[in-house]
Amino acid sequence: MTTTANTKPEFPNQVTGMYILARALKRVGLDTVYGLVGIPVTEAAYAMQKIGVKFVGFRFEQQAGMAAATHGYLTRKPGVLLTVSSLGFMNGLTATANATVNCYPMIQISGASDPTMVDMNMGTYEQLDQLNTARPLVKAAFRCSHARDIPSAVARAYRAAVSGRPGGVYIDMTTPALAEIMDADEAEKLFYEPVDVYSPVAPNSAAVDRAVEILTSAKRPAILIGKGAAYARAENQIKTLVEKYNIPYLPMSMAKGVMPDNGPLSALSCRSDIMKKADVVLIAGARLNWMLSFGRGKWNPDMKFIQLDAEPQEIDVNVPIAAPVVGDLCMSLDAILAGMEGKKMQADPDWVSSLQAETKVKNAKFAARLAEAAPAQPMNHWSALSAIKPIIEANPDIILVNEGANTLDDTRDAIDMVLPRHRIDCATWAIMGMGMGSAVGAAVATGKSVVAIEGDSAFGFSGMDFATICRFKLPVTVVIFNNGGIYNNIGVNPSTDPAIEHDPAPTTLDLNARYDKIGEAFGAASYYATTTAGLSAALKEAIASKAPAIIDVQLAADAGKESGHIGYLNPTPLINYTV
Ligand code: ADP
Ligand code: MG
Repeated sequence: MTTTANTKPEFPNQVTGMYILARALKRVGLDTVYGLVGIPVTEAAYAMQKIGVKFVGFRFEQQAGMAAATHGYLTRKPGVLLTVSSLGFMNGLTATANATVNCYPMIQISGASDPTMVDMNMGTYEQLDQLNTARPLVKAAFRCSHARDIPSAVARAYRAAVSGRPGGVYIDMTTPALAEIMDADEAEKLFYEPVDVYSPVAPNSAAVDRAVEILTSAKRPAILIGKGAAYARAENQIKTLVEKYNIPYLPMSMAKGVMPDNGPLSALSCRSDIMKKADVVLIAGARLNWMLSFGRGKWNPDMKFIQLDAEPQEIDVNVPIAAPVVGDLCMSLDAILAGMEGKKMQADPDWVSSLQAETKVKNAKFAARLAEAAPAQPMNHWSALSAIKPIIEANPDIILVNEGANTLDDTRDAIDMVLPRHRIDCATWAIMGMGMGSAVGAAVATGKSVVAIEGDSAFGFSGMDFATICRFKLPVTVVIFNNGGIYNNIGVNPSTDPAIEHDPAPTTLDLNARYDKIGEAFGAASYYATTTAGLSAALKEAIASKAPAIIDVQLAADAGKESGHIGYLNPTPLINYTV
């Protein structure tokens, strides 16, 4: 018997759609859900808890979505986001779209009005055609109109999220489906375990042979490691390729640590040399997008790219690819390594040594820059980082979450990573507003300690979800670089109109704000650091506590420049800056 009437189920012989949703998630091994409840999904979250699915409740859906995305990236199982209809759905969708763009597997499940009523403009509550709103921003979208659809929607969403290029998937969970009552033994028959839900695809052998031929005949080869390689867990294969064949490597931001940043073949400090001088670059799970100047311009025009990617449509984007290898990254690297067996590299003998010499010079310069900045009072980004760097590097298993403009760029440059999947940042869209959500997702998914290094502006987007870190007692330390502004605190309102001339400049925030006081509000350890010694002591204590902590790092008003390292992307800037 199935009914959509407003009756109550007779436990234990009958169950609701909400229970079926919880069971369906648990059955496929999705045992953590991030979200924010309200009509019509509150009881679904209770049903999840009842059967042992962890529910991490947030203050803002977007942050719950960032947590789900980070969970997906770190575990290779889709992170799950539960949202209410309309605005809650929309808030969460921002994170789901960001997951799709960044190839993080996640599933957004949103409560939704009965679609037939929405179509007639008679939606009972918060009507919005959510399915069609989500569709262009996700890999796949499903609608459940009946409770019996739910197990298959969950299994198919899982497969869609992790297959090929991972991404965001949407399930429109209508109120009639959630509220439907079914006989328990009928419902029981619906659950199944999808076979080979993650089914990696092997590359074709002609493509592998071509890649091997080009790589072994390179004079100045290099490997570009992207976050796709971190996600794919290709670190062992990449290590073999690098070490056995003496090939230097350059990591993208979130790929830092797939190979150690400070290893002998790291070309981290020689990015422009790799672009200009290498003749063959093997791209492992990265895209030739804006972050890599589209593979043109700054790159050697005679470059031969070998591109390894799960997504065939990524090949030849922006530049022709000499050797595309389409397939799962680990399988592609295994095949390339097998093909290289017994072959000799033709590389110039001084290619690696010249990069190593340059690395030595650049690293010495960088160390001098940090040392010189260290005594600055008030602190700037570099002095703060001179205190933080040795602490994070002494605790390599800490997951570093990082966002901001100068705070992002300078932290990425300053802190060496040595373990894969230990750096989560604002990634391909360079968005602000992923910090607290990603910190929660990283801590919940891995059980590891997290340090989030945040610009004060970036923190503002997600700051209220510091409360979630506290409610779930997570081992997360939030470090806020407070220079009182978007970029800095020295913007000047150029108006002479008496009505607005005293308004703050568009980039001005609150230099004297005490973000550490947020810790007091939610019962976390809180620190206000005005010196490098104070910052160092606070960070050490906070990490050792394995409990929520917040550190306001007071920087100078003029610390940092507009748009950090990518100021060149500003159209006609008002403020002059030097890059
Ligand atoms: P980065 O920002 O570090 O350059 P991107 O997100 O731009 O990384 O690129 C990651 C690439 O990795 C995407 O093109 C994606 O299709 C690819 N990718 C993700 N997972 C796999 C996998 N398992 N095998 C092969 N390629 C993958
Ligand atoms: Mg990229």
